[in-house]
Amino acid sequence: MDTAYKRIVVVGGGAAGWMAATALATALPASTVELVESEEIGIVGVGEATFPSIRNFHRLVGIDEADFLRATNGTFKLGIEFRDWRVRGENYFHTFGDFGELTGPDALWGHFRRLGDAGLGMLGEQCLPSVMASQGRFQGLASEENKAFNYAYHFDAGLYAGFLRTLALKRGVRRTEGRIVEVVRRADGGVAGLKLADGRELAGELFIDCSGFAALLLGRTLDEPFVDFSHWLPVDRAWAVPSESSGSELTPYTRATALEAGWAWRIPLRNRIGNGHVFASRYIDEERARAQLLRQLDGPALAEPRLLRFTTGHRQRSWVHNVVGLGLASGFLEPLESTSIYLIQSGLGHLIPQLQRGTAMPKAEVGNYNAIMARQFERIRDFIILHYCLTARRDGELWRTMASMELPATLAFKLHAWRQAGVLHQYQWEGFDAHSWLAIHAGMGHWPERADPELAHMPREEALQALRQRREAIAAVVAAMPPHDAYLRRMLAR
Ligand SMILES: Cc1cc2nc3c(=O)[nH]c(=O)nc-3n(C[C@H](O)[C@H](O)[C@H](O)COP(=O)(O)OP(=O)(O)OC[C@H]3O[C@@H](n4cnc5c(N)ncnc54)[C@H](O)[C@@H]3O)c2cc1C
Repeated sequence: MDTAYKRIVVVGGGAAGWMAATALATALPASTVELVESEEIGIVGVGEATFPSIRNFHRLVGIDEADFLRATNGTFKLGIEFRDWRVRGENYFHTFGDFGELTGPDALWGHFRRLGDAGLGMLGEQCLPSVMASQGRFQGLASEENKAFNYAYHFDAGLYAGFLRTLALKRGVRRTEGRIVEVVRRADGGVAGLKLADGRELAGELFIDCSGFAALLLGRTLDEPFVDFSHWLPVDRAWAVPSESSGSELTPYTRATALEAGWAWRIPLRNRIGNGHVFASRYIDEERARAQLLRQLDGPALAEPRLLRFTTGHRQRSWVHNVVGLGLASGFLEPLESTSIYLIQSGLGHLIPQLQRGTAMPKAEVGNYNAIMARQFERIRDFIILHYCLTARRDGELWRTMASMELPATLAFKLHAWRQAGVLHQYQWEGFDAHSWLAIHAGMGHWPERADPELAHMPREEALQALRQRREAIAAVVAAMPPHDAYLRRMLAR
C-alpha cells in the first residue's frame, strides 16, 4: 500500500506511540516510520485493563496471544465487577457478553422483569461471561466468527509498551531517544520538524502526537482547544500502587469499587495486583484518598503510591494540519471502563485506511475523522456517566452531585427512552453496544416504568421456561470450564 506521507514521525513511546508505530509500519510498508521518545520523561505507565477491540488490533498486527500474555504478565478480562455503586453491599458485573433478544416479544430481560420470579436469580445469570466471571472460570473461544462472548486482557502497561517496541523495531520502525525541546512550524501552520535537546533535528510529513498528557504538538504547539468534560466527570486525580498477589484470587475481571469520592480499581496480573483510586479532588483531599486506597489492597504494597492528575475531556479536533493526536495527547475520560486503549485503536482504525488511499488528505476527510473521534469521546462519556448518575448513594458529595446533575442531552434522551419504553437507544459511533447499556441499567436497578405490551404475547409459563433453560444451559457450560489461573497456566506452558 502506498501513501502520500512517505515520512511519518510518531512522538512518544507509551502504549499509544508504540501501537501507532507498529500499526503504521505494518499497514504502510512504503513509508518510513520514526518514533521519538524520552526515557528521561518516561511513560505514564498505568492503563492495565483493556477492551475486547485489543484482540482485533493484535490480529491485525500479527501478535500471538500466548507470546503477548507471557511478555506482559497478562491475564484474561471478561469484564468489570462493580461493587457498591448503587448502594453499599450491592455488586454487579458488566461483561462482554449478551443477554439474548433485547427487543420485541422475545426480549428475555423484559420477561425476567415481568415475571419477577425469585427462582430466576439475577439477570446476570442470563449472560455467559458474567457467570464465568462470578465463578472465576475461563475458556478461550472455539471460533472468532461465531463467538458466544468476547474478552479482553489485563497487562503490565510498561511491559506492553516494551513488547510493542520490540515488534515495531522488527517491522522496521526507527527509534530515536531524545527530549524534544522545540517544534519547527511550516508556513501554513503545520509542523515541519522537531529539535531535540542534543541538537539533532527530525523532519517529517505527518506527525502522530502520542506525547501523553503533555500533548506537545496538538496542545502546546497547535493550541487546539480542549473540550472539558469535568462538570460531568469530576474525577481528576488517581493514586496508583501495585500490591503483592500471593494468595489472592486471579480473577478474570477487573474490580471497580465505589468509595466516598471516587472508586478503586483492582487489576489482577500474574505477578502482582494493580490498584488505584480515582477521585474528585474537590470532594476529598489527596491524603484521605491515598489512605482509602491502601485499605483496599489484598496484600502489602510493592511501591509508594503514585499520584496522577488529569482533566476529563478531549482536544476539539484530533487531526489538525499534519498532526494527528492519539492516546492521552488527544484526550482522557477516566479509566472506569478501560476505554483509552480502545480509543487509540479506533483512531488508528479510521486513520490508516485514509492514509492508504495514497493522496494528500482532503479537508473533508480530515473533518470526517475529527467528527468521528469527537463523537466517540462523547458516546463513551455518556456511558461512563451512566454508572454514576443512577446511584442511590447519598453518602458523599460526589454521589449527591452525580445523582442530581443535568445530564448531556444525548444521555438524557437515552435514559428517557429506556424509562418510558424499554428502548436501548443507540447512536452512531457507540463504543458500547445495547447489551452493555442493559448490564448497567439492570445492575443499578434502573428499569422501565411499564412492561412492553408485546411481551404479553408470550405466555408466562413459556417465558419462564425460556429463562430457566438459558440459565441452566449457561450454568452447565461454565461448570465444564477450568478456573482462570489453571487455563492460563496450561496455555502459557505450551
Ligand atoms: C489513572 C489512569 C488509569 C488508566 N487506566 C487505564 C486502563 O485501565 N485502561 C486503558 O485503556 N487506559 C487507561 N489509562 C490510559 C492509559 O494509561 C493511556 O491511554 C496509555 O498508557 C497510553 O498513554 P500514552 O502513550 O498516550 O502516554 P504516555 O504513556 O504518557 O507516553 C507519552 C510518551 O511521550 C514522550 N514524551 C513526552 N514529552 C516528550 C518530549 N518533550 N520529548 C520526547 N518525548 C516526549 C514520553 O517520554 C512518553 O514516551 C489510564 C490512565 C490514567 C491516568
